Amino acid sequence: MSERERQDTLLELLNTTPLDGSGRPTDLLAEPQAAKVWQRAHGGTGTAAERRHLVQARDALQAVVRGTAPVTALSPLLDGVTSHPKVSPEGIAWEMDVPRGRELAVRALVTWSSVQETMPGRLRPCANPECRRFLLDRSKPNKARWCSMAVCGNRMKVRRHYERSHDAGAV
Ligand SMILES: [Zn+2]
Repeated sequence: MSERERQDTLLELLNTTPLDGSGRPTDLLAEPQAAKVWQRAHGGTGTAAERRHLVQARDALQAVVRGTAPVTALSPLLDGVTSHPKVSPEGIAWEMDVPRGRELAVRALVTWSSVQETMPGRLRPCANPECRRFLLDRSKPNKARWCSMAVCGNRMKVRRHYERSHDAGAV
């Protein structure tokens, strides 16, 4: 799995709690059967334990990215994870030892960490207050504000236009 694919998976995980059409929070991992499909599609085995760890990691990461929890909230999720050196002609590589069932969750945490390091500030919540999704801005200007220009971007533009014309009419 490439780093890009890991980043996409992290973003998809963070975006498993969107609001539905009527503004109600949903959770794509709440229903075991649907969650199993999601887990398997993202390299997991689909077990109940794996889902539990994944949901914990997601909830903690969402809070950290939204700034409502300190990064130390992630520490307990890495308990028992160790790494060992692997020597090869290319040199020494550190390989992680992750307790069974926690691979997907730990991978999400590690990917978040490398995004922090290589793309600081680019993973953020959508600027639409009525949206619970996140975005990873890979563009050069790094000015994207919406999870999707087509959905949230247009919605916010329409609202601003309405507010402007409404204000103008009131004068
Ligand atoms: Zn959005």
